Amino acid sequence: MNEAIERIVIVGGGTAGWLAASRLASSPRATAGHLSVTLIEAPDIPTIGVGEGTWPTMRATLAAIGIGEAEFLAACDGSFKQGSRFDGWVTGEAGDRYLHPFTSPPTAPIGGLLAAWQTSAPDLPFAAAMTAQAQVCDLDLAPRQRAMPEYQGAANYAYHLDAGKFAALLASHAVRKLGVRHISDHVVGVARGVDGGIASVATRQHGDVAGDLFIDCSGHASLLIGGELGVEWIDRSDILFNDRALAAQVPVAPGSPIASQTVSTAHAAGWIWDIGLPGRRGIGCVYASRFMDDDAAEAALRAYIARVLPGAPEVSARRLSFPTGHRARFWQGNCLAIGLSAGFIEPLEASAIVLIELSLNALIDNFPASRAAMPIHADRFNELFRYRWDRIVEFLKLHYALSRRPEAYWLEQRNPAHIPPRLAGMLELWRDQPPSIWDFPRVDEIFSAESHQYILYGMGYPVPANMTANDRATGLLAETRQRGRSLAAALPANRDYLDALHPAVSTAAAR
Ligand SMILES: Cc1cc2nc3c(=O)[nH]c(=O)nc-3n(C[C@H](O)[C@H](O)[C@H](O)COP(=O)(O)OP(=O)(O)OC[C@H]3O[C@@H](n4cnc5c(N)ncnc54)[C@H](O)[C@@H]3O)c2cc1C
Repeated sequence: MNEAIERIVIVGGGTAGWLAASRLASSPRATAGHLSVTLIEAPDIPTIGVGEGTWPTMRATLAAIGIGEAEFLAACDGSFKQGSRFDGWVTGEAGDRYLHPFTSPPTAPIGGLLAAWQTSAPDLPFAAAMTAQAQVCDLDLAPRQRAMPEYQGAANYAYHLDAGKFAALLASHAVRKLGVRHISDHVVGVARGVDGGIASVATRQHGDVAGDLFIDCSGHASLLIGGELGVEWIDRSDILFNDRALAAQVPVAPGSPIASQTVSTAHAAGWIWDIGLPGRRGIGCVYASRFMDDDAAEAALRAYIARVLPGAPEVSARRLSFPTGHRARFWQGNCLAIGLSAGFIEPLEASAIVLIELSLNALIDNFPASRAAMPIHADRFNELFRYRWDRIVEFLKLHYALSRRPEAYWLEQRNPAHIPPRLAGMLELWRDQPPSIWDFPRVDEIFSAESHQYILYGMGYPVPANMTANDRATGLLAETRQRGRSLAAALPANRDYLDALHPAVSTAAAR
């Protein structure tokens, strides 16, 4: 039981599998020669192929793996993501929109900032008052200049990307530069050791592959954590109702603007994502089959495309169904589930890939020294990630719970029977005081107090009555407006920045 953990076996070669392989193989333990990484992927079981929105964490992840920013953007047809805009979520009427940007409000007590907003800039939306990033997003500008050091910007940012190209880039980097062993084969069986842990997985053509730690990245198949170990699935569809998506890719005209944020537009029974890449827009309709049938969802998607891209060619849309929930435990014995095998909740705030990154950070920073140390690491990991899944469920539900839209789906979304008790309590608390670090005290909270503030005040939640402005807060908001003007003058348009990196993409789009 005291043997060291030296052989990592990853099952699955989607975004989760290749991120896991790349992060682990570039970790200090691997570069010192104490860890080998093998990834097994079935050549004919496709990856999910969606997942185009990331979080700012991706910058540190790519840097840790050793992939340059320009190389990444060019290889993945990437663009910059500076937050999410929510259109039509409050009332569905004209002009109903708010922004959840990645840059936090100024560093000052939120009570003073809220009061200063109400007295000195009441006509500005909350996000526009709190961060210059709102103006950068409105103008479709990049968050950085080309001359800045890689992965640094004038505003906090992440990326939009082509998911297929991202997995391909990671795979090539992991195999060619990081020494990951790649086995293209089906996992068809699992052998257990005397302690009940996984000793090896059987493949069709490459025999048994033995390991010390197995990472289940097999997607919805959940081969190891669900199929072999039978870890319970916790269903969360009583809170978040969406269970289907239709995904389309619509080519765009050369030179057309590229949005700085994901745009999420509410419809009668869900919402539509719109993600701008240099050569196309990824547009998809997320909906609850209980409230909308597939034909109506397709009609909503087509109507949206016709509105935002008039004259765009007719494209096919791929249908996806997804369960809403997660495993009761993510680390069981010597098996850790990462990615869809661990769980999935609708992509409203793009929280899936970031959970993959956070899982890998937690594993690498707390790597078990031996098999004997594994149970305590597993317990800690399970506790932390159960906390994170619960916070994701609540944060996504917040977007629905505050809506005033009249359709049956939206009425049911705000039915108190479907609102988690902790969120209901917080909403009560936030009538008295704004969200603060006291409500989200952990290191690496998945959604910070500031993110909650952007949703709450973006959606018109009442500002508590006893907030008082002060000169410092008023000054900070004036500085924010000034900074917005300076950035507007200094930053390049997304299109110009990315076209300079993507000559091949611009030429292809022009043909
Ligand atoms: C509609 C939708 C939109 C989304 N949008 C976002 C987003 O904007 N941002 C975000 O962060 N996330 C998003 N996601 C989630 C994101 O797509 C996934 O979290 C991410 O792609 C990771 O998937 P995965 O690698 O776990 O699984 P998959 O991509 O499904 O990969 C599974 C792998 O397992 C392999 N496999 C399966 N069975 C076997 C076997 N028997 N033997 C060997 N290999 C096997 C397959 O070959 C494949 O390589 C979205 C998801 C959906 C459904």
